[in-house]
Amino acid sequence: MSGSELVKSQSESPWVEYGDLGINYDPVNLCKGFPDFPPPNFVVEALISASKNPAAHQYTRQYGNPRLVKILSKMYGQLIGRPIDPFKEILITIGAYEALLSAFLGLINPGDEVIIIQPFYDCYPPMVEMAKGIPVYVSLKPPADYEHRPVSSAEWKLDFQELASKFNERTKMIVVTTPNNPTGKVYSKEELLEISKLCRKFGTIALMDEVYEWIIYDSAKHVRMASLPEMWPYTLTIGSIGKTFNVTGWKIGWVYGPANLINPLQIIHSNTVHTCPTPIQEASAIALEIEFSRLGKPDSFWKQTSNELQAKRDLIVNYLQSAGFNPTIPDGTYFIVASYQNIDWPSSKVNYTEKSPGDKFAKWLCIEKKLLTMPMSYFYANPSKNEGKNWVRFCFFKTDSTIHDAGRILRQMKLKLNSKL
Ligand code: PMP
Ligand code: GLN
Repeated sequence: MSGSELVKSQSESPWVEYGDLGINYDPVNLCKGFPDFPPPNFVVEALISASKNPAAHQYTRQYGNPRLVKILSKMYGQLIGRPIDPFKEILITIGAYEALLSAFLGLINPGDEVIIIQPFYDCYPPMVEMAKGIPVYVSLKPPADYEHRPVSSAEWKLDFQELASKFNERTKMIVVTTPNNPTGKVYSKEELLEISKLCRKFGTIALMDEVYEWIIYDSAKHVRMASLPEMWPYTLTIGSIGKTFNVTGWKIGWVYGPANLINPLQIIHSNTVHTCPTPIQEASAIALEIEFSRLGKPDSFWKQTSNELQAKRDLIVNYLQSAGFNPTIPDGTYFIVASYQNIDWPSSKVNYTEKSPGDKFAKWLCIEKKLLTMPMSYFYANPSKNEGKNWVRFCFFKTDSTIHDAGRILRQMKLKLNSKL
């Protein structure tokens, strides 16, 4: 017996193969986005405390544990400057993944178009296709001289004329990831306003993947689309406890927006997942209550985490630049993309199966050099995969010691004779 037509039209997520490379070759692992050190104490304590509540071991409300949706409504209500109904305007999901899937399944009709900005988080296109929608791609472009100077993620830009040309009456949705995985770009208010104008003109939903909302560097500012003028009726915003408190294994996510957009997602959720794990939701609520009370204060965990991550970012930038990579310096997230165009590596001599452009380099780096990254072409769709061909993504949410280990490997890299450095 074989899989369904749907499965035949899809391929396995690249995280599976790259997860196996990590297990089989025991490299310094800068591939997947999670910290290799313990989460904060107050978050672990929240889980211990939740586990002592007998009621927390049984099913909770299907659309979200009341304590969790209440603190989320209070927090985002303040952050976007409007009241949010905790029961009708929020849905708790199994990670941001389920929030994305229920948004596509709940809102897309066959033939509806969904604009996806490349490089994108890899699960968007297969999910849109599961909902029988049609992905329409547009790319962020790095500056033309990115190989000759350090560039910032803010310099990866959309061509707004090109973007406007992709909108039409069938454009049901646009997916925007800010801060962006993989580039680390934090969309400016001006950029979001441009997108918002198009959404209002064409009645298009802005599906905002803001899971890295708290990981912001330097003077960058995270702007929430839902807070922009007249955008509430058009916006669904996704968050993740994994990214909020460095506990990716908790797999609790949420989506908030107007009741008429949330309700279809609730219906999908009620017939699939039905309800998310209660102890994790209870612990998430406790931790959010604590952290929300110190928002903007010097003891804010989110602020401290960004400061710590910024130092790690600077450390890896240094290693990458001195090895001859051309990194884009991220304004947010814990990822950094870098071009390896100047690196000398035996491309014609290695014969690992190349599933996607640049995948051979990443496999060589893992198997021969013991450093695992993620090829950036996996964040582009088929016709444009070559845009990501010479780039790999590194996750720097690791102990300094892990980053130094990676640095030692990077230092052994050699430059091509004709390199443009
Ligand atoms: N969106 C983005 C941009 C991500 O990087 C991730 C990775 N975790 C997700 C969604 C999924 O998040 P979760 O682990 O909460 O399902
Ligand atoms: N979002 C994380 C990343 O980009 C984890 C990947 C995943 O959960 N599949 O590395």
